[in-house]
Amino acid sequence: MICIGIESTAHTLGLGVVESREKRIKVLVNRTWKYPSITEGYVPFKLAEHHADNAGALATELKNTGLKPDLVSYSQGPGIGHSLHVGFIIAKTISNTFDVPLVPVNHAIAHIEIGKSECRTKNPLIVYVSGGNTQIIIQKDKYEVVGETMDMGLGNMLDQLGRKLNLDPPDAVGVLKEAEKTKDFTNLPYTVKGMNFSFTGLLTAALKSREKKDKICFSAQETAFSMLVEACERALCHYHSKEVLLVGGNARNRRLREMLSIMSASHGARFCAPSDEYCGDNAAMIALTGLVSWKGVEFKNAGPRQKMRVDDSKIMKNKYYLAK
Ligand code: MG
Repeated sequence: MICIGIESTAHTLGLGVVESREKRIKVLVNRTWKYPSITEGYVPFKLAEHHADNAGALATELKNTGLKPDLVSYSQGPGIGHSLHVGFIIAKTISNTFDVPLVPVNHAIAHIEIGKSECRTKNPLIVYVSGGNTQIIIQKDKYEVVGETMDMGLGNMLDQLGRKLNLDPPDAVGVLKEAEKTKDFTNLPYTVKGMNFSFTGLLTAALKSREKKDKICFSAQETAFSMLVEACERALCHYHSKEVLLVGGNARNRRLREMLSIMSASHGARFCAPSDEYCGDNAAMIALTGLVSWKGVEFKNAGPRQKMRVDDSKIMKNKYYLAK
């Protein structure tokens, strides 16, 4: 079977095409058009304009593959309403053109499913870190959030820091590059409550700090990541997990990977994270999740939903592996 995926929850418009053969899924196309990081942050209608502007290029890319899909899936939520609607319209148009089912996909679950498929995990403790989401998740009858941020997402905090400090690029990547220049540390607020955590106090203090930019960035990362790792360690011990899977856009951060892998190893657990191209928002993960979940999905009234959560949807029996 061939499934097309459309991603459009936030800054990225994406086209993914995957093909299943028995228990393997092969990614045939994983193309993204990303709205650039800018110092003013993201304005919803500008994101929608960007996605609409690139819809033609997406259609051409799809046409050039010459593939005929059996399914079309799209990111239903969570996300920014303006952006979600553009992706929904693109996906609906493709599904009508080919006369195939349109499958709504929970974007948060898609981040997890592609991680599980690529890393071949069984029942991992999941750490989901992105701009808007920072959660520690376990899998039972459905995904359950056992720890999460009480205010902003980790990625959002790092992006804002990068923007306000005028880094290049003005986002979390800029913070990482700046942080790598030093090992000089200054204390910043550290807030962990059980398995939950908070980042706003840390951000405010970092922005008020008169230390050098590299020292602020290094300290912000070390403090925020330590909070996350502490909460994660508590969950790991409580649920006796044998695997830790890091997913989401900020899963590309090598320092976060290093800290989580040291903690996991100290408890005899395996640490893993997907390849960089499957960490940030991408449409291969939407296509994969659409393919895995389409049976039993309710297709009616399946328009965008901004406020979806990972624990809103039923769990799917994903027994697929990503082909190398
Ligand atoms: Mg995302």
